[in-house]
Amino acid sequence: MSQPRNVLVTGGNRGIGQAIAEAFVAAGDTVVVTSRSGEAPDGLTAVTCDVTDTASVDAAFGAAEEIFGGPVHVLVANAGITKDGLLMRMSDDDFDSVIDTNLAGAFRCVRRASTGMIKARNGRIILISSVVGLYGGPGQSNYSASKAGLVGLARSVTRELGGRGITANVVAPGFIETDMTAALPEETQKAYKAGIPAGRFAQATEVAAAVRFLASDDAAYISGAVIPVDGGLGMGH
Ligand code: NDP
Repeated sequence: MSQPRNVLVTGGNRGIGQAIAEAFVAAGDTVVVTSRSGEAPDGLTAVTCDVTDTASVDAAFGAAEEIFGGPVHVLVANAGITKDGLLMRMSDDDFDSVIDTNLAGAFRCVRRASTGMIKARNGRIILISSVVGLYGGPGQSNYSASKAGLVGLARSVTRELGGRGITANVVAPGFIETDMTAALPEETQKAYKAGIPAGRFAQATEVAAAVRFLASDDAAYISGAVIPVDGGLGMGH
């Protein structure tokens, strides 16, 4: 078992991020989540953070470090958005804002987290990508590019900081059971599930389990990897 860690989960106030944060709490780690409102569900502690704003990221890490009484040991860069649209009609703003949140936002958090991790000669960085990062998705050129970029980010961090006890990995979820997927018409859900070897959508807790493993001592020699949690949908990563 790993020692208790100080874990920061961006966008940990809801959805997959919340499931990840709750899994770390259940394992006895100290967890701070970020949300733009600064609010979190019961049982979680939040700091305010907009990942598109470097000053906000710096302030959030400062606030988290005060709560922890020390540095961030595990960063889970989970905050993300979609602004889907067909390529020919996609505006510069819809492309840029998705890249700014999903890719540059993760970069800002990784850069800030790395200072404490380098000093400690230990750290775990886990970036939440998506199956469409490497599989592609019609109407998702902005989102897919942002999620593919996270692979290059994790692999460059691995090459730069791997000698200092720091690992950087990517988790690539497929379809997750969320309000969004539940709202899809039954026929659409059936069609999606038919393309997934596992024949079902995932629970957010199944993503959290992969993240927790990558943060554990057992995963010390895994870095620069892309771990799919997609029931086999995107094989070939
Ligand atoms: P949700 O839409 O439920 O939550 C998104 C989270 O990101 C929220 O906490 C939100 O914070 C935060 N966020 C958005 N923009 C910003 C910003 N500028 N600064 C800080 N935080 C921000 O998403 P999911 O739980 O569905 O997805 C979580 C991650 O998993 C995302 O990166 C997504 O791309 C990825 N993913 C999701 C899949 C799915 O099926 N749902 C499949 C594959 C990958 P706030 O509450 O303040 O808005």
